[in-house]
Amino acid sequence: MPFIELKDISLKYMTLEGETHALSGLSIDVEQGQFVGIVGPSGCGKSTLLSLIAGLIKPTSGQVLVGGTPVKGPSAQVGYMLQQDYLFEWRTIEQNCLLGLELTGSAIRESSRQQVAEMLTDYGLGSFQKSYPRHLSGGMRQRAALVRTLATSPDVLLLDEPFSALDYHTRLAMQEEVYEILRAARKTVLLVTHDIPEAVAMCDRVYVLTKRPGRVKADIHIELAEVRPSPMQARKAPEFGKFFNRIWEELDVHVQPVELTSK
Ligand code: ADP
Repeated sequence: MPFIELKDISLKYMTLEGETHALSGLSIDVEQGQFVGIVGPSGCGKSTLLSLIAGLIKPTSGQVLVGGTPVKGPSAQVGYMLQQDYLFEWRTIEQNCLLGLELTGSAIRESSRQQVAEMLTDYGLGSFQKSYPRHLSGGMRQRAALVRTLATSPDVLLLDEPFSALDYHTRLAMQEEVYEILRAARKTVLLVTHDIPEAVAMCDRVYVLTKRPGRVKADIHIELAEVRPSPMQARKAPEFGKFFNRIWEELDVHVQPVELTSK
């Protein structure tokens, strides 16, 4: 049985300006422990899809199930990590990391504090627990945001372009780290990204969505001959280019020609 299921989802946003049909007839399923990429044109409903799984919004029609149970609202079972780290500048790193627990209404026990401290140490932030976010680099801030998300022990991690604000080298390093951490913890992961190599390097499977209203255009299983020890190793696999091209073709990106005028 799939761990996450979206069945024939339609979602319309109603605003004063009118109606936006964001998703239409969208169905996806994700196995427990799978890493699944979501790619598609801007505005096709990728973030909307994550918000549905997080229980932040309800579909206009269709069903969203996590662990076989219909999603009725936000739950600690699902963690969300965004492009911006949303660390509060006036809270220390430790206080930021305890925030998720505070928001789920859990009493902050000494054991939670201990667990967060251990995670910060494991992720190279042990000496920054009492520091404020402004003292951390972009990659370290994103690591702290990951600790905050993992502190509530979610089974599912929704990652919405989590690396796109980072410089190229930090982005590659963070892909390695996050991949290793989430695989070791056997999390189920949905990764929204614009970066095709990132999707191929990190995911077992990639859904390509159509332009708005988004539905599934292709469901591509990234099968590499060798077991994928890390995203960097996957980038070196002989099949990497084949999967890149397949996704690129499905995205069917057209760059509009620019009319050149000579003076
Ligand atoms: P993507 O993540 O693929 O770029 P989104 O899920 O953010 O797409 O948005 C899909 C469409 O829905 C876009 O046209 C966007 O403008 C619109 N949209 C997103 N959120 C809202 C909202 N809260 N209210 C109205 N329209 C929205």
